[in-house]
Amino acid sequence: MDRDLGEVFDADHDDLREHFERDTYRGRAYHYLPDARHGVERGTVVVGDAVVRGFPSIPRTLVLDPGVVEFFDGPVAVEEKLNGYNVRVACADGDVYAFTRSGYICPFTTDLARDLPVDAFFDDHPERVVCGELIGPENPYTTHDYAEVDEAALRVFDVRHRETGEPMPVADRREVCDAYDLPQVPEFGVHDPTGAADAVREAIDDLDARGREGVVMKSADGRRALKYTTSAIHRADLAHAFDKPYDYGRDFLFARIIREAYQAVEFDDDEAQTRERARDLGEAILLPAVESIRDVAADRLIGDEHTIRGDPATIEAQLNRFRGYGLHLEILDDGYEDGERVVRFLKVADTSREKIAHYLTGGTIDE
Ligand code: ATP
Ligand code: MG
Repeated sequence: MDRDLGEVFDADHDDLREHFERDTYRGRAYHYLPDARHGVERGTVVVGDAVVRGFPSIPRTLVLDPGVVEFFDGPVAVEEKLNGYNVRVACADGDVYAFTRSGYICPFTTDLARDLPVDAFFDDHPERVVCGELIGPENPYTTHDYAEVDEAALRVFDVRHRETGEPMPVADRREVCDAYDLPQVPEFGVHDPTGAADAVREAIDDLDARGREGVVMKSADGRRALKYTTSAIHRADLAHAFDKPYDYGRDFLFARIIREAYQAVEFDDDEAQTRERARDLGEAILLPAVESIRDVAADRLIGDEHTIRGDPATIEAQLNRFRGYGLHLEILDDGYEDGERVVRFLKVADTSREKIAHYLTGGTIDE
């Protein structure tokens, strides 16, 4: 490891060092921390001279009232929570890299980040890390679509000091991103804690109607953040999980149902509304599961479909990476457009497929 960890972290650095894993990106070695240790976040990376802290976990409130006033004691900036994957972009020894949440240098995302106007930003702010959500129809990890985005795109929601993890105040961050043309997450203004719950409620109604995920509320200094999500995303998450029911942990499913229950108590004015909510939730769970069982019965593969496009070597590296950790990929289309390789593939949900096939042929279950 190029960097002396004792110099960066106030922790037993010999022990900390042992927990870092080594990987390579285009022949260049780097180290990442797969699990939080000694107060250092999961996904912390050391590349050359640069230490890039992992992105912290954001707590959730299940009720806006009094969740918001209990959490904040000053102005609350409300931003849209986009549903893609978390990316950190930083510069190390003159090269830009994009890290996933776990600290992996992702070839696909790194290529994409290098096409953003980040060079000018890092020339002026070399010690910063740009954090954002990678969204859009063509990416290797997530499948949520945004009507206004027709390719993979980054939306910045944070700029931090890469080594201390200290965030930039929200207003400064919005200004600096504007100045460097870095696209940002949509915002819903800044509110007093007492008015924030109502403002968020309005934003949530609007986001829900448009099938979007939710909001992240932040203190002005960017240090405290709280998330809250829409019914639409609870259903979308459930539908996404129940079309491969044995590939998701039960905690994932339980959490979404509970979120919906609290929201019903807070939002629904009458019983008819709660009944409608219950029906929608039930459909989100059952219909995808039924369809998948029918698919397996008809010998069709089940899983998530993705399309990725880009530099041929990058696309190959991405597919190899997936295969390397045991994903079963079914290639649906593979070709070239304007010198870029475009691959459409299915991440086959083998666990669910095998279990469903087993039960469909009369396998018994002990419960
Ligand atoms: P964790 O619970 O550890 O945060 P998670 O992936 O389950 O992990 P999510 O429920 O998706 O977390 O919520 C946090 C994530 O939301 C952030 O890590 C970030 O990737 C994403 N995100 C999207 N929009 C924003 C935003 N405006 N501000 C902050 N984070 C955002
Ligand atoms: Mg997310």
